[in-house]
Order: sequence, then C-alpha cells, then structure tokens
Amino acid sequence: MPSSNSYTLSPIGTIHSCYKEKFGIPRQPGLVTEITGRLELLPPYNRLDTLEGLNDFSHIWIQFIFHAISQEGWKAKVRPPRLGGKEKLGVFATRATHRPNPIGLSVVKIGRIYQEGKKIFIDLHGADLLDGTPVLDIKPYLPYADNITDAKGGFAHSQSTTYFVKFSELAKHQCEEYENLHKREITTLIKQIIEQDPRPSYLSDQIDREHGITLWDINIKWCARSDHFEILQIEHK
Ligand code: SAM
Repeated sequence: MPSSNSYTLSPIGTIHSCYKEKFGIPRQPGLVTEITGRLELLPPYNRLDTLEGLNDFSHIWIQFIFHAISQEGWKAKVRPPRLGGKEKLGVFATRATHRPNPIGLSVVKIGRIYQEGKKIFIDLHGADLLDGTPVLDIKPYLPYADNITDAKGGFAHSQSTTYFVKFSELAKHQCEEYENLHKREITTLIKQIIEQDPRPSYLSDQIDREHGITLWDINIKWCARSDHFEILQIEHK
C-alpha cells in the first residue's frame, strides 16, 4: 500500500523531439531558437479547451520526467558539466538529471497550437527534451512573477561560451539538399547545438576525434578542431 506521503502522477502529454538520444541535447532550454519538437496532449487532456487562453502567452514551464535515467538513482553530490566535471556540488544546488524524484523543469517558447485528427500539438522552440519525454504539467510563464532581474545564478550566472562552427563544403551541400526536400531548417539547428560544445568534460580536450549526433532522421558527423568545430557530413537515414 502506498505510504500517505507518496503521490501518483500520470503524464498529461508526450514530447516528440528532434533529439533521439541524450548526447547533443543542450544543457538548458532556449540555447537553440529553432523548433526542436512538439508536445502532444494525451487523453483525456487532448482537447483544445484545456489550452484556451494559452495563445496569449509566449512561453510555458514544462514539468517532465527524466524517463531515460529514472531507474538510475541519485547521488547527494554531482559534477556540473559547467564546472568542467572537476568540482562537486549538492544535487539540490544543480539542475542535474539524477535526482531523488527525476523531475525536470524547462521554460520554453511556444509556437503554433494545432489539431491533427484527434491529436493536439504545441510546437516548442529550443526545448532541451529527449524524444518520448513524459510531461507531467505545463503552466504559462508569467513575466511579472517569474522574471527576477536581480537573481543570483551561482556557478551558472551567465550563458556558457559558444564556439565558431564551420560546415565543410560537403555538409553545406547536404544541408541545403535536406532543407529543400524536407522544408525543415537544419543548418541553424546544427550550428546552435554544436556551438555549445555538447561533449562530456572527459572528451573536451580531444581534437580531431569524430563525433556523431542524431537529429530528427539525420546523423551529423562533426569534430573539434583547435579553435572551432567542424561539421563534416550529414547522413539522411
Ligand atoms: N531544463 C531541465 C531542468 O533544469 O530540469 C533539464 C536540465 S538537464 C541538465 C538537461 C539534460 O537532460 C539534457 O542535456 C539531456 O541530456 C537530459 N534529458 C532531457 N530529457 C531527458 C529525459 N527524458 N530523460 C533523461 N534525460 C533527459
């Protein structure tokens, strides 16, 4: 029998995202401006009346489950990638995924709200969410209350450095071909993801090593050069 201080929550929606694996997902939302996915409302919430009034807001808070690691447990102290993986901080002083309750919180710009058959979707710009992420709740972002201009940001007081990203001639051509065929802007998306340096700290001094990330239905091969990143090629799956 559940104890009196445990609660059962069930998702109100699911995320359909360009990020098919954890590697490459930005460490916070808003670092990418492109549409990175959409939220689908699940029954019985897949009704437009649950969203009435939302069109007047530009951003929402999304509360979600870190479902891909929810069985992996938690540790009291973690190493934020922002600190180069060298320093440990208390889990509650970080946005680490491995937490006692694996719940995440992202503020995300919303796009179109629309219906396809019986399904209701909200387009999301720059969400830092894995494909298939279960969503517990959404709430409108309230600038007057949520935007605290004199807030202190601890170890993450400003955005991380971004790096120059160069596309090889082959990658440029492959992106153009993909964009013409699929009417989906990927050049900016790839640039905005790679310029954050998505590599884990232990690989961050490796030059010329090839990495791959999957976005939507494409594999992107890229590597770090001494002072920039290079997109080598794009493979359409
Ligand atoms: N903005 C959220 C927060 O502060 O709670 C997430 C921050 S967390 C540091 C961001 C990372 O969560 C991403 O880089 C990705 O690797 C991971 N992530 C996103 N969705 C996930 C999911 N459904 N399951 C496990 N990890 C996920």
